[in-house]
Amino acid sequence: LESNRPSYSIASIPADGIGPEVISAGIQVLRALTKAIGSFELEFTHFDWDSARYKKEGTYLPADALDQLKKFDAILFGAVGAPDVPDHISLWGLRLAICQPLQQYANVRPTRILRGTTSPLRNCAAGDLDWVIIRENSEGEYAGHGGRSHLQTGWEVATEVSVFTRVGTERIMRFAFETAQSRPRKMLTVVTKSNAQRNGMVFWDMVAAEVGKDFPDVTVDKMLVDAMTTRMVLKPETIDTVVATNLHADILSDLAASLAGSIGIAPTANLDPTRQNPSMFEPIHGSAFDITGMGVANPVATFWTAAEMMRWLGEGDAADLLMLAVENVTEQGVKTQDLGGSNKTVEVTDKVCEEIENLV
Ligand code: ATP
Ligand code: MG
Repeated sequence: LESNRPSYSIASIPADGIGPEVISAGIQVLRALTKAIGSFELEFTHFDWDSARYKKEGTYLPADALDQLKKFDAILFGAVGAPDVPDHISLWGLRLAICQPLQQYANVRPTRILRGTTSPLRNCAAGDLDWVIIRENSEGEYAGHGGRSHLQTGWEVATEVSVFTRVGTERIMRFAFETAQSRPRKMLTVVTKSNAQRNGMVFWDMVAAEVGKDFPDVTVDKMLVDAMTTRMVLKPETIDTVVATNLHADILSDLAASLAGSIGIAPTANLDPTRQNPSMFEPIHGSAFDITGMGVANPVATFWTAAEMMRWLGEGDAADLLMLAVENVTEQGVKTQDLGGSNKTVEVTDKVCEEIENLV
C-alpha cells in the first residue's frame, strides 16, 4: 500500500558541547509529534561533523558534504565550538561553510516571552514582546573579506572589509518586507549605522527605500543600531519586524534572546527563501561547555527551532501544536535552571512529549 503522507528527510548535525543533548531531545519531541499527528513522516540521517573530527582529520566537512546535504529537505543543527579550537576556525569550518554556499541568506530569529517564563524587562510578560529579527546571513561584515599585511615593518595592518552587494541587499530587504507584511502589525524597522558607516549603510538605507515602494501597506522606520538597543529595552512593544546586517543583527538577537528570558529558548532559521537549497535550523545558543554533560541544557530553543523547521516544511499546524505543548509545559513550571526552574533536560523533554499526546 502506498502512503500519501508526505515524508520529510532531515539531516541532523548535532556537533559539539550540548549540541548532541539538545538535538536528541529535539528529535524525541519531533517523533512524538509525528506519531501524534500521523499526517506526515520524518526521516533523520545523522552526520558526525564536529570538532573531534576536525582535530583528527583537519576538516569539519568531507569534500562532498554540500552535495550530501542538498539531498535533504532540511538540516537540523546543534552547536559548534570547542575549548581547544579557535572560534573563528570552528565557525568558518562548519556553520558558515554550510550557510554561505547553500545561499541561506536570511537568518530569521523570532523572539517572544513564553508563558510561565519571566523577562528581565520590568512590566513585560508573555504576550508583550513579539519580534522577528531578520539578519543578513551571507555577506556584510562577515563576508570574510580582508587580510593581514606589513607584518615585517612593524606597522602591522589587519583589515576586515564589509561587503554589501546590490543582489545581497535587495534580496534580504525584500524578504524582510514580505515577513513584515505577513504579520498582523505590518511594521518593519530598518537598522543601520548610516551616520558613521557612510558607504555600505547609506546604500542599505537607499535599497530599503527602493524595495519599500512595492510594500505600501508596511509601515517602515529607520533606527541606528545603538539607538535600537535602547528602544528594545525601553519600548519593546513598539517593535515588530527588524532587519539588520550580519554583525548588527547578531548582536541585537543575543540581546533579544536575553530580554525574552534566556538564550536557552531562542531559535534560528537559516533560510534559502528561493528553496533551491535546504534551509538549516538551529538554536541560537552555542556549545555551552560549562554545562555540557550535566543534563541541564534547556532543550526549549531546539523545540522552538524544530517548530520553525516544520513551519518551513509546510506543516504549520504541527508547528503550532508543538509550541502550544512547549508553553503549556513552561507554564506548569517544568523548566531548566536558566529559566529559574530545577528540571533536567530529559524531564522537560518527556513532559513536552506527554503534553503533545494529551493535546491531540
Ligand atoms: P558561541 O560562541 O557559539 O555563541 P558561547 O560560548 O559564546 O558560544 P553559549 O555556548 O551560547 O555561548 O553559552 C553562553 C552561556 O549561556 C553559557 O553560560 C551557557 O551555559 C548558557 N547557555 C547556552 N545555551 C544554554 C541552554 N540551552 N540551556 C542553558 N544554558 C545555556
Ligand atoms: Mg556567543
